[in-house]
Amino acid sequence: MPHSQQVDFLIVGAGFSGLIAAERLSAAGFRCKVLDRRPHIAGNAFDEYDESGVLIHRYGPHYFRTNSPRIVEYLSRFTEWHHVSYQIKSYTQGKYWSFPINLNTFEEWLGRASTEDEWVSWLDAHKVPIDSPANSEEVIVSQVGWELYRAFFEQYTIKQWQLHPKELDASVCGRIPIRHNRDDRYLTDEFQALPVAGYTAMLQKIIDHSPNSCVELGVDFLAEKDRWSYKHLIFTGPIDAYFDFCYGTLPYRSVRFENESFTAEQLLERENISGKPGHWQPAMQVNFPDLDVPYTRIVEIKHATGQQIDATTIVKEFPEEWTPEKEPFYPVPTSSSAELYERYKALAQQQENVSFIGRLGTYRYYNMDQVTGMALAEADRLIKRYSA
Ligand SMILES: Cc1cc2nc3c(=O)[nH]c(=O)nc-3n(C[C@H](O)[C@H](O)[C@H](O)COP(=O)(O)OP(=O)(O)OC[C@H]3O[C@@H](n4cnc5c(N)ncnc54)[C@H](O)[C@@H]3O)c2cc1C
Repeated sequence: MPHSQQVDFLIVGAGFSGLIAAERLSAAGFRCKVLDRRPHIAGNAFDEYDESGVLIHRYGPHYFRTNSPRIVEYLSRFTEWHHVSYQIKSYTQGKYWSFPINLNTFEEWLGRASTEDEWVSWLDAHKVPIDSPANSEEVIVSQVGWELYRAFFEQYTIKQWQLHPKELDASVCGRIPIRHNRDDRYLTDEFQALPVAGYTAMLQKIIDHSPNSCVELGVDFLAEKDRWSYKHLIFTGPIDAYFDFCYGTLPYRSVRFENESFTAEQLLERENISGKPGHWQPAMQVNFPDLDVPYTRIVEIKHATGQQIDATTIVKEFPEEWTPEKEPFYPVPTSSSAELYERYKALAQQQENVSFIGRLGTYRYYNMDQVTGMALAEADRLIKRYSA
């Protein structure tokens, strides 16, 4: 499709949000063009085979999970699934701990066997009575008290955000469950699985099923705004960038990834640690809550993908300041950033022919299933509006 040709929808961003919206609109007969400034599709969910042949998630591990049958049904048109129960551990005080905190963690803490009753009584005696936790510190101490908060949450959160948990919205640490039983699954959503061939392959299939769409990579829409002719714009990039940062920059947190691969021979030395041949560490993800370790977590995604390969790759994550030349990863959930976003949102609402969707368009920590739901809903709304 030549650039000058008018399309119905110009869609900025070839991640989950943009490609799913394009597929729906294309299926309804609208002509769509999708742009992305990166040289690949799939946005932050991009995965690829590294030099050792291991399937890795380039922008950090992406654990797909959902409680929505509608979203599973939609995505299953484009992929088969590898079902998985995501397991993580925490490493502090020289050992690995069950995490999220559960009865097993409590036994490890005590150094002896215990019961659910004793664990609940211990929590009752240690938790701080706070009716409506107003920040991330309060949300944890109101459930487990100071000792476990300090061991597993306080320093990790400071390292991740460069902010004290007291300064962060309750939702940040509140997302991590505290369990009374021995359930040590990271997540409890009904559907937990990864696309068998990866996210990029799944999203490529979505493109292949969009006959009225074309995708152009390596193009920054904001650098060439006037080049395109369209009826409606769907913008899944950062909302503040769209408005030329007129109220200032919305803050993000960034991450630097350091990858290291190991051959089968090198792994033999560590097998007593991984407990699983062909793996480097005992779980898919190990958190390092102590501030004297510069990274927050090590992820060995092969535990989750189930890839049958002798080698493995681990990825260390070093939280970093965000600057505009880096990818914006995590919106910073403070009250001041929420207020700034509200000002941009008010501007967005005045734009008749522009939709802002996705994680960056709405400045919110949404998971992949949530942005899928958002893209499907927005596509439905636009199909009704433009078919009328
Ligand atoms: C480190 C990390 C870990 C995550 N882990 C999980 C997880 O375990 N489970 C889960 O469900 N979700 C996870 N997520 C969230 C997941 O990445 C998002 O829900 C999903 O990728 C959002 O899709 P999107 O299309 O809205 O945004 P994105 O994937 O960010 O795509 C937006 C695209 O827009 C492009 N773009 C921006 N501006 C422009 C422009 N001016 N011109 C052209 N293109 C532009 C960008 O290059 C990008 O490709 C994680 C996110 C991060 C950062």
